[in-house]
Amino acid sequence: MAELSNCKTCGTVFVKVFQPICPQCAEKEEKWYKTAVDFLRKKENRMATKKDLLEATLIPSQTLNAFIRTGRLSLKNFPNMHHPCERCQEPTHERRFCISCADELRKNFSLPLEQSQSEPQTIRETTYSYSLKNTFRLDGK
Ligand SMILES: [Zn+2]
Ligand SMILES: [Zn+2]
Repeated sequence: MAELSNCKTCGTVFVKVFQPICPQCAEKEEKWYKTAVDFLRKKENRMATKKDLLEATLIPSQTLNAFIRTGRLSLKNFPNMHHPCERCQEPTHERRFCISCADELRKNFSLPLEQSQSEPQTIRETTYSYSLKNTFRLDGK
């Protein structure tokens, strides 16, 4: 019952199990992830920018973005690291959307503001379900 699929990253045909990328790419991604975590763990890198990280680790920026967007890496403790908002492309410390876009999205979903401020989980769920709708459009090229 094996399902053959093209790797989303390198195009190799492989037997799809859980993820849209082949085992080689998954392994590579795991290595990148560890490299990024190692870099961010170092005290002297607290003030590093994303460019510093990319240059020091040679991680493809798409891969790094994916780590941030999926929540595997957080930029919150790194004041100089920014990530383009998925909606307006402004630099942000948030996972996917800058504060003002998150705010607007929240309004569209008419959630009480104080609740979403104190419960980040609420924001995450909201932005997540919003972006899910758009993911297909954005990635379906
Ligand atoms: Zn691959
Ligand atoms: Zn934004």
